[in-house]
Amino acid sequence: MTMEHGEDCCVKVAVHARPLIGDEKLQGCKDCVTVVPGKPQVQIGTHSFTFDHVYGSSGTPSTAMFDECVAPLVEGLFQGYNATVLAYGQTGSGKTYTMGTACKEGTHVGIIPRAMAALFDKIEKLKNQVDFQLRVSFIEILKEEVRDLLDPATVAAGKVENGNGHAGKLSVPGKPPVQIREGSNGVITLSGSTEVHVTTQKEMTTCLEQGSLSRATGSTNMNNQSSRSHAIFTITLEQMRKADPIMASDGMPIEEMNDDYLCAKLHLVDLAGSERAKRTGSDGLRFKEGVHINRGLLALGNVISALGDEKKRKEGAHVPYRDSKLTRLLQDSLGGNSKTVMIACISPADINAEETLNTLKYANRARNIQNKPIVNRNPIADEMKRMRQQLEYLQAELVLARGGGVGSDDVQGLRERISWLEHTNEDLCRELYGLRNHVHSDPCEPELHKTVSGYTKGEGLKRSLQSTEPFDVLMTDSVREGNPKDIDDEVAKEWEHTMLQDSLGKELNELNKQLEKKESEMKGYGHDTVALKQHFGKKLMELEEEKRAVQKERDRLLAEVESLNADGQTHKVRDAQLQKLKTFEAQVNGSS
Ligand code: ADP
Ligand code: MG
Repeated sequence: MTMEHGEDCCVKVAVHARPLIGDEKLQGCKDCVTVVPGKPQVQIGTHSFTFDHVYGSSGTPSTAMFDECVAPLVEGLFQGYNATVLAYGQTGSGKTYTMGTACKEGTHVGIIPRAMAALFDKIEKLKNQVDFQLRVSFIEILKEEVRDLLDPATVAAGKVENGNGHAGKLSVPGKPPVQIREGSNGVITLSGSTEVHVTTQKEMTTCLEQGSLSRATGSTNMNNQSSRSHAIFTITLEQMRKADPIMASDGMPIEEMNDDYLCAKLHLVDLAGSERAKRTGSDGLRFKEGVHINRGLLALGNVISALGDEKKRKEGAHVPYRDSKLTRLLQDSLGGNSKTVMIACISPADINAEETLNTLKYANRARNIQNKPIVNRNPIADEMKRMRQQLEYLQAELVLARGGGVGSDDVQGLRERISWLEHTNEDLCRELYGLRNHVHSDPCEPELHKTVSGYTKGEGLKRSLQSTEPFDVLMTDSVREGNPKDIDDEVAKEWEHTMLQDSLGKELNELNKQLEKKESEMKGYGHDTVALKQHFGKKLMELEEEKRAVQKERDRLLAEVESLNADGQTHKVRDAQLQKLKTFEAQVNGSS
């Protein structure tokens, strides 16, 4: 059985046909129910019904029921999906046997005990990663009254023969009656019923046993009214992901819970007998006054009709959930936020044929009910998550607005430095370009000079030009004429050139240091301010890009100076220059 995430999901209906029991055999009853081999189809008389599953008789063995119908619901609880299992059918058809509501000694294990085992198995597997909280409640709806089967006083009183036939009416003085409440979020809750916190399977089983005992004792006192009561055993599973999950010791990948907090409920419902309580009479006639229909089951039938009829549903017909306590309590289980399975229990005996047919008709309509299960997150946890994100964002904004630490002013300063370095680089480039032209071609060619001047831009370049231009003229002459005095000037020129490169190297060094500082500051902020990290991450990348451009320029410059030297400078000059450039290079490399 697959259940879709957040999508419409129909109520699944399974039929459980029990074998003929002792009494029926004694009466010589015949089996009047046929299961179509290999198909989830039941035939009775001329009627044929198809369900999601058919167990018992010649259908699927009953032992497969839990794995196919209930195990996926237990699994769903851990993903935050509510679930409901309803056992429907006439008295004696096997509802209590199927659900395992009454814990009796014997080999058969019903759905509730198996669900508990599956639940605790899974908890055991996940306990290193998730904190679990389990609560159970067990109530009975009898004559439109909700009885708390786990109320310690009721449990005690139920054991006492009070003689008035109203054990269920006994209540502790001052204790408010159990009431059904609807929260502002539409969630139905019971107020005043006992919710027992349990930590072990044993404790949970004890709750089931105690509640069943209370119900059974009450029924004896009330002339077997248990067939008129609905019993609802509810398990609430809360999960909170641990802050520091412990990894599985075997190194196996562990299951991940996507949410920090989840809460889901599993309702296990043993409904009242579906048969109409006829006035017993030899004539077999049904007298209107003698027919008592359980109000809960009647309302349930009407809810199923309203929900199961596509036409009515599209017209937005009223669903009479409020007509009974049962339908009110199961509002979410039918047409709402729950994955729901109904198990229709039937007797195969021919004497029950009419009730069996009614049960199959009733259950068949339930298959049309569309539920909408959703993951039940804690609304407060959701709000907290949203607010935490907002806080992070605002913190980032604040840091930016203050300009403190890694503010925009710093970034602007770095930008300006880079810009200045770029211009200085251009100056050097321009200078070298001019120098090379004087060496290799007609030094007086105006066109070239014009081209070189074309590089002029910005304050940095002007500054550079002021310091280098007089040398430029001297250099030009010295190279052309080649006299010793001019060589001295040339050395001076090279010296100036190298000094400039030196300062460029220092600037780069400084820039690298600042970038490093910013990077480490960024790392400090990274954990709690995602927005900030992204913002400065981008800025940092831009700066790195600019740094790379400056370094590239420097390398080009270096190459040009070297080729220039190879092209006929004096060894003395070249060596001095290379030495300086190497120092410069070492500085830059050392800091990047
Ligand atoms: P209900 O709760 O619907 O009134 P019970 O669960 O009490 O019915 O079952 C009535 C009787 O039938 C019990 O004696 C029970 O042991 C027996 N019974 C029910 N289902 C099965 C089954 N699948 N196999 C064998 N016996 C069953
Ligand atoms: Mg029963």
